[in-house]
Amino acid sequence: MTDFHSGATAFEPHNAECPSCGGRYFMDVHWKRTCLKCYLQTKGRTESPRVQVRIVVEPIPADMLKRLVYLVHPDKHANSEASNIATKYLLQLREVQHG
Ligand SMILES: [Zn+2]
Repeated sequence: MTDFHSGATAFEPHNAECPSCGGRYFMDVHWKRTCLKCYLQTKGRTESPRVQVRIVVEPIPADMLKRLVYLVHPDKHANSEASNIATKYLLQLREVQHG
């Protein structure tokens, strides 16, 4: 418990009001004097840095595609619908990727 008479001010995390914008924010450490938005503004930024994600799609190598077509071929799966759909898909993929 805080002893109000000792003068010691042990910090306790609490919801605080931002003196800049009046918004509420969670002050989890004593040095967070403003909300994050106002803090970033003082640093010349308006928002958190965005994480850049680059997705690289590499074509399936021709020999691997050939292997996959072999594995899913309808002849090996009692001409099932699933094998037909998968084979068709792989053949289209081969056409797009390897001409
Ligand atoms: Zn603020």
